[in-house]
Amino acid sequence: MSNEIKKLAASFQRYLRKEYSDIKTILKFNSQFQLLVSIVLSAQTTDENVNKATKGLFKKYPNAKLLSAAKLRDIESLVFSTGFYKVKSKNIHTLSKVLVSDYNSRIPKTIDELVKLPGVGRKTASVFLAETFDQPTIAVDTHVLRVSHRLGFSSKRYDPIQTEKELKQLFPKNFWRYLSMSFVQFGRDVCNAKKPLCNVCNFNNSCKYFLSVNT
Ligand code: SF4
Repeated sequence: MSNEIKKLAASFQRYLRKEYSDIKTILKFNSQFQLLVSIVLSAQTTDENVNKATKGLFKKYPNAKLLSAAKLRDIESLVFSTGFYKVKSKNIHTLSKVLVSDYNSRIPKTIDELVKLPGVGRKTASVFLAETFDQPTIAVDTHVLRVSHRLGFSSKRYDPIQTEKELKQLFPKNFWRYLSMSFVQFGRDVCNAKKPLCNVCNFNNSCKYFLSVNT
């Protein structure tokens, strides 16, 4: 990593800490199980949509045991509004069954075990660990990939594993847990996928993407 990129990363980190100082998940949950299910349901939709769906879902099926015994059709009708409801319903149903049968309804605490659960990828596992156990993990989603690559923090635009590795080399451990949420928010507020607000962005004079399209 060049010194310029390191300086930019340090300055970006200061900006995010200030701009998004009170950022936290808005997902509503009362247990680790409910958080994990909420994160699985949050793929390709907003957290607000997830909260609307889980209000009814968790009222009826608040834990793994009850959800594992539910009828798939009933789950589908409850999570319909989150999109991709058939796949998501099947995932949270199977996930509940596996938790009950193999883990005595406890949620594993390591990323390696979590990613073996149905519907739980590396991103979901990282978000869960960061939220629940305060573990220093970096969840790489589409916003983190885009912002990281545009600013020159990552070398591979569509490679979440490599991006996670490079971000971990660039940012201090005590920022990892906070990094994903603040990058995502910056990606939504400023560095939008289709229309980034480059003209008002504080980092346009050193952003790799901006410089490449304006020189
Ligand atoms: S200058 Fe544009 S592309 Fe670069 S980080 Fe800012 S908004 Fe994103």
